[in-house]
Amino acid sequence: MMINSIYTQREIFIRELISNASDAIDKLYYKALTDETLAFNKEDYFIKVTADKTNRTLTITDTGIGMTQEDLENNLGTIAKSGSLAFKSENEAKEGHNIIGQFGVGFYSAFMVADDVTVISKALGSNEAFKWESTGTDGYTIEPCEKDSVGTEIILKIKENTEDDQYDEYLEEYRLRAIIKKYSDFIRYPIKMDVKGQ
Ligand code: ADP
Ligand code: MG
Repeated sequence: MMINSIYTQREIFIRELISNASDAIDKLYYKALTDETLAFNKEDYFIKVTADKTNRTLTITDTGIGMTQEDLENNLGTIAKSGSLAFKSENEAKEGHNIIGQFGVGFYSAFMVADDVTVISKALGSNEAFKWESTGTDGYTIEPCEKDSVGTEIILKIKENTEDDQYDEYLEEYRLRAIIKKYSDFIRYPIKMDVKGQ
């Protein structure tokens, strides 16, 4: 019972990341409505979910508005910096209740299934890109990087299976499709999928 509820809650990290991707595309869309120098061609905007079984990575890519260095610090930085995530996840895992209700809704739910999260982003109107990286517990790093197009790439290094917890499923196409269908069916932008490796 307890195991089941944790198990079914964990999968919602995909919903959270896809909803952020969709919000980011919406922001670009609304900007384009009021700025005639920006054209919004619906076909150019999509979300992509890529699983790489060999490297155990799950990547959510969007063609949305992107984040500046400051955005990365302000929007993703706070919880990792304060260490409150580590505190909460440890305690809630012990007590086995309400992981999501306490901290999981939003970007940080990625740390339920990943032991390292990398965010590569280029903001609209910027000619530089930045890479944010965190293990969820010891703060984060930010450094300049290369990225051609505006948008964001979230790369999750999926945890290894343990005796009690299964994570391999988040690299399986059938499972990813089922989760996306369950939680993200209403998303307005196409969600593409690519699964590689064994
Ligand atoms: P919420 O979506 O409720 O604001 P989240 O924890 O999901 O909270 O995300 C925090 C913030 O990080 C978002 O409000 C947004 O500013 C930024 N963000 C997260 N993912 C993306 C993304 N893919 N593209 C652009 N900004 C993002
Ligand atoms: Mg969100």
